[in-house]
Amino acid sequence: MHLPVSTKKQNVLRILEHPHPGLSGVSEEIVYVDDTVASLITDMISTLQYRTLVDFFTVRSIPRGLAAPQVGISKRLILCGLHGSLKGMINHEIIERKETYVDNDDCISVKEESKMYIKRSNHVTVKYKTPENEEKLLVVRNDAAALLEHEIDHLNGVLNIDYGENSPPIK
Ligand SMILES: [Zn+2]
Repeated sequence: MHLPVSTKKQNVLRILEHPHPGLSGVSEEIVYVDDTVASLITDMISTLQYRTLVDFFTVRSIPRGLAAPQVGISKRLILCGLHGSLKGMINHEIIERKETYVDNDDCISVKEESKMYIKRSNHVTVKYKTPENEEKLLVVRNDAAALLEHEIDHLNGVLNIDYGENSPPIK
């Protein structure tokens, strides 16, 4: 796993919960991928690791991703556990979406609805910048595509509960 290195003390950040207004805004592009961004990613990784440990001992499912707005930062940055590594993805751009994938959708920022099914893409091609400021292209499928779309939704101020009647019935 490749993680950004920082000499700064790692912080566990507070995760905002619905209906906090910080979760409903549209996040801004990151102009400079600099030490501030690397530091934020380090803190978000610590936050996700801590939350995973806590959730391991509870009935909730273990989180696999975190978006910057969930920790109160309105920037286009997400962390996703994809293809066996935790990827920091900056200023993503969806290149292609194909087919449909329906899966249970859970969010650590939404306590109201712990289990709901949402219709997402089965195949997503995404372009993004890494924390090292490199441009990458990635193809994800099935639950990985659903996870990516869930985290991207956060950058657009959309939560799983916002799908409401557009969600397929729970099986
Ligand atoms: Zn979420």
